[in-house]
Amino acid sequence: MRISVFGLGYVGCVSAACLAGMGHEVIGVDVNQVKVDLVNDGKAPVVEERIGELVAEVVGTGALRATRDVREAIMGSEVSLVCVGTPSEPNGSLCTTYLERVTEEIGAAVAERGGRHTVVFRSTMLPGTCLNLLVPILEKYVGGTAGVDVGVAVNPEFLREGTSVKDFFDPPKTVIGELDPASGDVVAALYEGLPGEVFRVPIPVAEAIKYADNAFHGLKIGFANELGAVCQALGVDSHQVIDVFLADRKLNISPAYLRPGFAFGGSCLPKDLRSLVHAAQRADVSVPILSHVLPSNADHLQRAVELVERTGKRRVGLFGLSFKPGTDDLRESPLVELAERLFGKGYDLRIYDPNVNLSRLLGANREYIETRLPHLAQLLADSVDEVLDHAEVCLVGTKDPAVLSALPHGDSPVIIDLVHLPDADARRAEPGYMGLAW
Ligand code: NAD
Repeated sequence: MRISVFGLGYVGCVSAACLAGMGHEVIGVDVNQVKVDLVNDGKAPVVEERIGELVAEVVGTGALRATRDVREAIMGSEVSLVCVGTPSEPNGSLCTTYLERVTEEIGAAVAERGGRHTVVFRSTMLPGTCLNLLVPILEKYVGGTAGVDVGVAVNPEFLREGTSVKDFFDPPKTVIGELDPASGDVVAALYEGLPGEVFRVPIPVAEAIKYADNAFHGLKIGFANELGAVCQALGVDSHQVIDVFLADRKLNISPAYLRPGFAFGGSCLPKDLRSLVHAAQRADVSVPILSHVLPSNADHLQRAVELVERTGKRRVGLFGLSFKPGTDDLRESPLVELAERLFGKGYDLRIYDPNVNLSRLLGANREYIETRLPHLAQLLADSVDEVLDHAEVCLVGTKDPAVLSALPHGDSPVIIDLVHLPDADARRAEPGYMGLAW
């Protein structure tokens, strides 16, 4: 199929490259010229396992190219995948501005193109957004009826940053919210050949499933971290506890997101929980469990600050800055928040994150760092050794092999383990080892 992908961020870039890898002809569209140029040069605008090689390959064969020109993309495709961002507004509600704008642009181009084009929304949005907000915009610009003159579907994305290419080719499930069967058929054809169950459901159900997933993931992480903190306080090995807990598959527990570790963050879980709780409050629905997941997460982050304070040392190293290992994504990263708290308390900090450094070199996240995190940019080190030479205490928030192999044993520097290091059991006997994830 000939496919346009709107938004070349984490979801759009991975979707575009993987669909091109499956044999489709894909044109990516982004308002950001840096991302368009990177893709056309055969480089991925995000750092992810396997994505660099895949983009180089599919751009090389001509299966993927990028443009800023919406009209050109729509003229050359039968289906559009919308993957623009839906961040939080300051009050926690969902920002739909980018979705509205791109829907207008696509609608105007579809009107010019003629023939049936199907618009598939992959961005996360609250139930009702597609039918009540976006479909009327599309119908106005197309000058026709959705489900008749223009196809509409919602197809939420379940990738996890860090393993997103693998997740695309082996999805936990495929959810197709369809306005009409023909629109659903188009989405089903896109993914033909991929494993996993396909669920064809009404559009608001598809929108809501994504929130069910992300709210539950946040809840699981919060549960595992609180359990870990209590176990640690009582002198119990929480990983032994969780190993046995998870082995009980009769209760059907997936181990994903259920390991005591560091606080969660990123561009999805916090903002999706915020907008879900905001929507519940607006509807006068009491949701005490959901509304306490983010405060629980904030308490967990504070525990890491307190561990540093307990050491009494001032020169601190931080390994990892992105919101989790395997990605360069800094949005709502708990490690950024941790770095800011330590910086604000006057600690002499150095930070090393190889993925963030690589992305900065490529230019992909340079603007984000320069505009949002200029106070941290000056603390970024070029190597593991630079941090180790500086630090009396090291916080380890990544499992990057280069970092793991360089971490010393003994009592100096003090190692504060945020990720349950592979050799945590051996290190526990060492005087300089502390952890959040014992
Ligand atoms: P992102 O911010 O990385 O990418 C969005 C891209 O859209 C940006 O490159 C931006 O320049 C571009 N854009 C904005 N307006 C545009 C327009 N009018 N035309 C073309 N491009 C435009 O966002 P993301 O992390 O890829 O997330 C996208 C959506 O998918 C969000 O709704 C998010 O909640 C959801 N989601 C994200 C993940 C994830 O792991 N990141 C997973 C599942 C779902």
